Amino acid sequence: MNVAFKQPIETTRKLDSIAEALLLPSGIDGVYARTASFERVIDGLTDLIAQYREPNTEVLRFPPVMSRRQVEKSGYLNSFPHFLGCVSCLSGSEAEIHSAVDCHEAGEDWTPSLSAADLVLSPAACYPVYPLVASRGQMPADGLLFDVACDCFRREPSKMLDRLQSFRMREYVRVGTPRQIDEFRRRWMKLAEGFAARLGLSWRIDHASDPFFGRGGKLMAVSQVEQALKFELLIPVHSTEQPTACMSFNYHRDHFGTTWNIRTATGEIAHTGCVAFGLDRLALALFASHGLDFAAWPATARKALSL
Ligand code: 5GP
Ligand code: ZN
Repeated sequence: MNVAFKQPIETTRKLDSIAEALLLPSGIDGVYARTASFERVIDGLTDLIAQYREPNTEVLRFPPVMSRRQVEKSGYLNSFPHFLGCVSCLSGSEAEIHSAVDCHEAGEDWTPSLSAADLVLSPAACYPVYPLVASRGQMPADGLLFDVACDCFRREPSKMLDRLQSFRMREYVRVGTPRQIDEFRRRWMKLAEGFAARLGLSWRIDHASDPFFGRGGKLMAVSQVEQALKFELLIPVHSTEQPTACMSFNYHRDHFGTTWNIRTATGEIAHTGCVAFGLDRLALALFASHGLDFAAWPATARKALSL
């Protein structure tokens, strides 16, 4: 793996000193209002990523909520119960709902009256793709490609600006044979180098593991690294010692294929993979690397982002 950072940048700005021009506090850690300046970069990234879209890619934009049943069946609840946010609402008769509101009016806790709805906050952009593919039946021989995005939620309150509870994720998703997924992921790991270089970012790509829950989760993480199922594009946002994962390159093997009974054109269980762009982290990495003044950004980055 690439151990040293490519295109090392001399200074990364102290995030705290630039934060107030980019992300305004909401009173909840990890949830921010984004300024116009920040959003200009997000828009630039959104368009830039679209330039990498291959022909025959289906574009889908998902809402920030998805089916609870689908997330449970996908295994997310087993692997990451600590991150999952479930929508809960007041239901029942008018009198029952009134009594919950009255509790609040009386200064008491009204939330015990809530009950879980059939929705969760989407934890990643690609989860709704797999049941959708399964519902369509037979796949073409070339497999399928998707360009998806949604606002994601993970219950990880933190004061670190690169660890948000609510953040935006864009993904290219591949469904097909093991070979098709392998080619897709290799191609993207190469493309990501050019992507980071155009943006004038310092980066390296390394093995990674997901933060699976609990003691058993540690074994899953080790096995994920051993099998090289996850790589990340790391950028020094705070420091070079603890760089921030701004993209991930994931091979799920037959996990979603088996779960949803997705079949290739020849009837085999399909394999899947995805490449995820953390839009908020990429934008933050750009500001940390190049500062707040767009005029002072590297010309290649300004051109790439139409700034
Ligand atoms: P993954 O599914 O690989 O954990 O996440 C995909 C990408 O989403 C990450 O590479 C990262 O860029 C982004 N992401 C994951 N967690 C967070 C977070 O807590 N805050 C922000 N801003 N982005 C995140
Ligand atoms: Zn994904």
